[in-house]
Amino acid sequence: MPQGGAANGGINTGEAHSARVYDYILGGKTHFAADRAAADDLTSAWPKLPVSMRINRATMHRMGRWLAEEAGIRQFLDIGTGIPTEPNLHQIVQGIAPESRVAYVDNDPMVLEHARALLASTPQGRTSYLDADMRDPDGVLRSPELQATLDLSRPVAVTVIAMLQFVEDASALLRGLTSALAPGSYVALTTATADITPDEVTEMARRYTERGVPMYLRTRAEVEELLAGLELVEPGVVPMNRWRPDADAAEIPDTDVNMYAAVARVV
Ligand code: SAH
Repeated sequence: MPQGGAANGGINTGEAHSARVYDYILGGKTHFAADRAAADDLTSAWPKLPVSMRINRATMHRMGRWLAEEAGIRQFLDIGTGIPTEPNLHQIVQGIAPESRVAYVDNDPMVLEHARALLASTPQGRTSYLDADMRDPDGVLRSPELQATLDLSRPVAVTVIAMLQFVEDASALLRGLTSALAPGSYVALTTATADITPDEVTEMARRYTERGVPMYLRTRAEVEELLAGLELVEPGVVPMNRWRPDADAAEIPDTDVNMYAAVARVV
């Protein structure tokens, strides 16, 4: 990878990076000029992007609550965590069950720098942060840090939120993860699609790719295929505003979002 504009610790400030673009759009403080230029360019292609990204966080909160409250899950593996934005997943699930354990994984050095915010666990639970590339699911699952946080012989919910659109072979990634999980585990995901507003979102993805962040859009059938072999939880693969909406989400038109959401159970 060229390191033009590299600052330190492998952080390349000269090129846009998804975690920082996202942080800028969400109103965070961790971004550089290249990230802001990319974010503005993407938003001019699809003006709803900031709205959709906020809806994505709300969808993650609903999924976390459902997994903790309805599915009774107490172990979570969050892949592609991003720069911390409160509330983070452990705050949601430990608010319901303080003994919950959460392992966070991301491969952006900038996320690593901010990981301390992710480690503020309840005394009864535990959180950890792994700096790792999820395209090697075996390596992550076998790592001592992960095994010190999660007991893989018992059910785990893997949350892959707004991350798979940056992975070409999402199917290999998910298969590698789910094949190692105990029955009764879950996968919860949101991932980008051009099904709803095709022209704008396709143009947005083209611009992101051109700026060095390849973005892979998927149809509903392709997202269903990613979860083949698992048991889809109702309501299946749906625009994320329609995934078990609360009163706020129920008001949102599909055209405000560019992501599908789904939760599936490992059987
Ligand atoms: N899940 C968060 C952040 C999404 S941004 C949320 O929804 O709010 C996507 C994140 O995925 C970025 O932080 C990026 O660094 C991370 N990511 C992308 N490819 C990755 C990979 N191969 N391994 C680990 N993390 C990755």
